[in-house]
Amino acid sequence: MDIELKPLNLPGSDDRPFVIAGPCSAETEEQVMTTARQLASHGFRMFRAGVWKPRTKPGGFEGNGETALPWLKRVKEETGMLISTEVATPEHVELALKYDVDILWIGARTSANPFAMQAIADSLKGVDIPVFMKNPVNPDLELWIGAMERINQAGVKRLAAIHRGFSSYEKKIYRNLPMWQIPIELRRRMPDLPVICDPSHIGGRRELIAPLCQQAMDLGFDGLMVESHCAPDAAWSDAKQQVTPDVLNYILSLLVIRDEKVVTEGIHMLRKQIDEIDNGIMELLAKRMSVCREIGRYKKEHNMTVLQTVRYNEILDKRGAQGSLAGMDSEFVKEIFEHIHEESVRQQMEIVNQK
Ligand code: PEP
Ligand code: MN
Repeated sequence: MDIELKPLNLPGSDDRPFVIAGPCSAETEEQVMTTARQLASHGFRMFRAGVWKPRTKPGGFEGNGETALPWLKRVKEETGMLISTEVATPEHVELALKYDVDILWIGARTSANPFAMQAIADSLKGVDIPVFMKNPVNPDLELWIGAMERINQAGVKRLAAIHRGFSSYEKKIYRNLPMWQIPIELRRRMPDLPVICDPSHIGGRRELIAPLCQQAMDLGFDGLMVESHCAPDAAWSDAKQQVTPDVLNYILSLLVIRDEKVVTEGIHMLRKQIDEIDNGIMELLAKRMSVCREIGRYKKEHNMTVLQTVRYNEILDKRGAQGSLAGMDSEFVKEIFEHIHEESVRQQMEIVNQK
């Protein structure tokens, strides 16, 4: 893969972290200007606001379109902040350029679509504007890199990646699963590409912004894109995940930025991947144990024995064989499963013996 990058070279882009802040959507001129003035008073230098909003279902607020672009231009003229918006089609690109938008970002639903990406790339030929690429909605690093390659091949060298998490049917605490190993691997493969974390869309709830920002800083991310609104609860889109400029400033003031140059240390990045994988193993084990307790309850109700030897041998053989196919010693794998089984039986016994 050949991606030729140039530094972003924007006012503030060397700050660690550099921050892009602003509302999910540009709703009214007043909302845009009030939010921007408050952000500017705290020293924020890059403003975001969605003008075209991709909505999962029809009927929601889909953005004000071109009407909102003069509001962004006014933000730039009055506050001096750089302005950014999401583009999803060549027409969006053309309009954004017409109103002097400084930074374009591409949304997660668009970066997942190579046809859309190629059309946008073609419309950017010969244009020198920074483009920030959100990860595609599905956890596919190659698709994410491919989207950036298309833009790069059009001649755009000032690129950054935005990590906004990945859709999952399994709703846990996050709106979009962070799957940190994916941006970590991106960083390992493209050490010069700035990576920005979007805690608002990962978390989906304002309480998660602070811990997610801290985690991104600990992993060596360069920037943050955070949704901020002058009256978050009244927002027309993504109300639950927005914070006021004051709260955002407070959250960022508490961040601990470790002075650690992890970027060039491949081993460091690989170790972070190991930590992420181990974390995943522990989560899966915990899930397995909770299913075992469920089985315990079932067996108790139906008067079945806890230990069912046939089933036990079947698990050991199946996983042993799978292990050797994956290049591991089958005895080693069987041993792991013996230990897992032992703990599972213990957990079931606890349930069965409950009064
Ligand atoms: C947004 O930034 O408001 C947005 C729609 O984000 P995403 O593409 O990450 O869902
Ligand atoms: Mn949003």
